[in-house]
Amino acid sequence: MLEDGIDLLGVVTYAGYLDPIAQSGHVMRGYKNPAIPRGSHWQTVRLMAALGLLCHRDCPGKLLGQPPTAWATVPSLPATPQPQTHPLNEMVRQLARQGGHEVVLEAKGHVQNPRAINASHFTVRADSARGRHILLIDDTWTGGGHATSAAMGLKAAGATHVSVLVLARWLSIGWEATTTAWAKRALTAPDFRPDVCPWTQGSCP
Ligand SMILES: [Zn+2]
Repeated sequence: MLEDGIDLLGVVTYAGYLDPIAQSGHVMRGYKNPAIPRGSHWQTVRLMAALGLLCHRDCPGKLLGQPPTAWATVPSLPATPQPQTHPLNEMVRQLARQGGHEVVLEAKGHVQNPRAINASHFTVRADSARGRHILLIDDTWTGGGHATSAAMGLKAAGATHVSVLVLARWLSIGWEATTTAWAKRALTAPDFRPDVCPWTQGSCP
């Protein structure tokens, strides 16, 4: 997956509908559900985003040798007919430093298979990505198609590095038996561990 435009993949936590991560699955779906008032789901996801973005701000730059100088979020694909702000974009915008440079990705209106990896699914406005290390944020990583296509779009627009921070890596029962077995074996910590670096899954670089 990493050969397709993503230089570095950071994961804040895991989500799905299997124990011990079932609750995080509900949170990751709930925070962007317009039918649910913004309360604990929103605050939980915002805390995870703040942890990944603010506490580990320097980590991708140390690992790749060039600090990130811009951020982007992965928009919905295909694009909605009436453009609307994605909750994740709104959240990251609030957390970004004043004057932080946003690279706006635009999603195609019609695509055959949104989950497929395709550099033409997302394009970048003007020349905003050229020469930059871009921190690309997505809320969930399932098969990785959206984030990978978005990273390829950024690279096509001249980005030198793309580091992807996903707030939750989605693990699904049924479609990947080995993943489920791994999750049950590996994800035994009863609580979220804020001291684990999303970029190394260990200590910060
Ligand atoms: Zn770190």
